[in-house]
Order: sequence, then C-alpha cells, then structure tokens
Amino acid sequence: MTPVEALACERCGRRYAPADVEYTCPEHDGVGGILDVRYDYDAVSDELAGVLDGPTGDLWTYEPLLPVDGDPVRLGAGGTDLLDAPALGDALGVDALVKNETTNPTGSNKDRGSAVAVSRARQQGHDTVACASTGNAAASLAGYAARADLDCRIFVPADLPEAKAVQPRLYGATVLGVDGTYADAYELCREVSAERGWYNRNAAMNPYAVEGKRTLGFELAEEAPDADWVAMPMGNGCSLAGVWKGLREFERLGVVDDTPRLLGVQAAGATAIYDRFVAESDDSDAAGSRSEERGDGEDTTADSIDVGVPHNAGKACRALAESGGDAVVVSDEAILDAQRLLGECEGVFAEPASAAAVAGIHAAVERGTIAPGERVVTVATGTGLKDSASAREAVDDVISVDAAGQGLPEDL
Ligand SMILES: *Cc1c(COP(=O)(O)O)cnc(C)c1O
Ligand SMILES: [Zn+2]
Repeated sequence: MTPVEALACERCGRRYAPADVEYTCPEHDGVGGILDVRYDYDAVSDELAGVLDGPTGDLWTYEPLLPVDGDPVRLGAGGTDLLDAPALGDALGVDALVKNETTNPTGSNKDRGSAVAVSRARQQGHDTVACASTGNAAASLAGYAARADLDCRIFVPADLPEAKAVQPRLYGATVLGVDGTYADAYELCREVSAERGWYNRNAAMNPYAVEGKRTLGFELAEEAPDADWVAMPMGNGCSLAGVWKGLREFERLGVVDDTPRLLGVQAAGATAIYDRFVAESDDSDAAGSRSEERGDGEDTTADSIDVGVPHNAGKACRALAESGGDAVVVSDEAILDAQRLLGECEGVFAEPASAAAVAGIHAAVERGTIAPGERVVTVATGTGLKDSASAREAVDDVISVDAAGQGLPEDL
C-alpha cells in the first residue's frame, strides 16, 4: 500500500485515482495539466513518527511518504551532508550552510527523482525507461536503470559536456544526441516514448518523478529548521517546487513550526521562470529595476539550467510566492566566480548551475532581499567533476616545473 490518495491536476483541479492516469491530466493536451500527487497522511502517521525518531539514512528513510510500494531501488541517493560554511558565509555576509548534493550516487540531486521513478517503473512491469535531459537526469536515470535491470534510452542536446554524454553510456544506456535544444529533445522523447511504450521519467510530465525531490525538503526541514532562506538554481523549476512541497508537508505534519523563504536563481542566458515571477508580482517598481539586472540572455555556461521553455515554471513561481521568497538572475561571470569561491572556501566542487545559487545569494544580499547575517542554505545541486572544461575558466593556470624544480615560484 502506498500512501497516495489521488492525483490532482495543477490546472483544472480534477482529481484522479492513481490507477486511472499515468502522466498528465487527460483533459488537456501535453504540458499544462501536470498532476500533483496527494497523500493520505493519517494512514502513515504511526510509521512517520517512527521515521522521525529513528536514524537517518538515504532517501528511503522517508519511504512511508513516497509513492512506492515496497522493494525500492537502492543506490544511495539522499541523506547528504549539510555543511556549515563559515568561510563562504564571511564572503557573502550571511550565516551560510551548504547542502551538498554533489555526493549523490551519480553526482546530482536528480538521483532523488530517479530513485522513485525507477522504483515505480519496475513495480509496474516496465522494461524500458526514457528521459530527455541536459545531462544529470540522463546519468541519474541510467544509473538507477542499471541497478534495477531496466533498459534506458536518453535524449540529450548534441552539444552537451563530454563527461555528461559518457556517464549514461557507461551505465549501459542508449544515448540519442538530438540536433537541437533541450526543448527539442524533450518533445522527441515524449513522442517516441508514447509510441514505443517506454516509461517516461521527465519530471515535467511524470507526476512521480518530482516526488523523490521532496525528500530534500524533508531533510532541510529536519536539519535546518531555523534557516531563513534556501537558495537553489532553477532550470525547469521541478527541483525547487519539489523541495517546497517537502518543506510544506513537514510544516503541516508539525515536524517544524516554520518554513524558510526560497531564493530561486537563474542564469542570464535562461530567465523564463524569473521573468514570469517578476511579471506576476504586482510590485511594478521592482519589475522595472529588474529588467536591468536581467541581461540580454543568449546562452549560459550553466548547462543544467539552460532551459528556454521550462515545464514547471508555474509550480516554481507558486513555491517562490508562497514561501515569501524571491528570484534573481546572475551572469556567467558571477557564476564562475561563485564556483571558485565555493571550492576555495568549503572544498565543494559544484558545477556552474549549482554555483549560480551562491552567486544568487550575493546578488540578493546586494539588493537587500537577504539581510546581513541571515541563515541561508545554498543547495549545491551537482558535482563539477563532469564539466571541468567550464571550471577551467574559473581557475589559475598550472605552474610548469621541470623535474629538478626549475620554475618553482620563490614566493610559494
Ligand atoms: C537539473 C538541475 C538543476 C535544475 O533543476 P530543475 O528541476 O530543472 O529546476 C540544477 N542543478 C543541477 C546540477 C541540475 O542537475
Ligand atoms: Zn486538468
């Protein structure tokens, strides 16, 4: 028995029994009718009390609140470290913490979503899973599919960083490099998966894929109940929305009294969620001054958030608004500076998309949105090891020294 009570359409509010729908609301075509998984909390309250009193482990610690009926696929996602980050905090002027998602099994927070989606796919007897990805979801789905002994098909934009295209193939997945954008890869994946009966993990249409991401919210609620802010990058907006759902659930369940405000960060090259959030906020002054910091947006080195047409913008904007939070945009230059700052200050090598959250905190402090000294968790969503080419722009050159030590700087 899973605790799932119903699936509710984000757009029209219709509710469905879990057995009656697989992806989006049948009342609308394609995106727009994303379904939200609703739970019967009373049914799991005893189990949940045990979870909250018990030891923490990977994300299956929260199994009573996940839409999986036993026998989950385990690879070690979740249960990541929350690091206090005094040096980073000094640099930013806040009380900083880093939630280190880079240590997830395939290197990013996507593993939380894949763990749940692949467990469900196996439970329902699917033999092939698929997704479109800017890279990390691909590796993650492929790793979990390997673990579950399922076939895996990945659609990626052909220009993705080399290591991100290698990792899913190493896990045995078939990678299809689409000559186009992420949006093109996403559409193609949707069509082909429907035709061939593959289980589509895409978080923007598979209602269960974001459910695993709530566990990041659960962990933050338990580990940082006094945080004022949680800063996260936004691409499709699924991660931020999932974290907010988890935080809210733990507030409603009485685990914590309060929820932090969310700071959603986008890169100047992909600002769709930011634009929508500013347009929806009724503070027109703010909207005016913000068009300046927005930049002209072409492309960004932060490939994981280089999403032109985000599928979860509505959910993300609602999460930002409900939390009393805000959105900011940062330049690629600021992202690379922040990437190095995070590495030098705290020993965390995060990819550019993750570093955007750090740059976003800086921008929000400058603007006065985050007050000096507030307690701020930055989510380091993914490892930088998969994309050393972009990090190379942020670091000093190697100093060449011959075997006798010629070339060694005197002042070192
Ligand atoms: C996917 C991803 C994001 C963005 O998450 P969305 O759910 O698309 O908003 C941020 N950072 C990393 C490392 C990612 O892999
Ligand atoms: Zn609907």
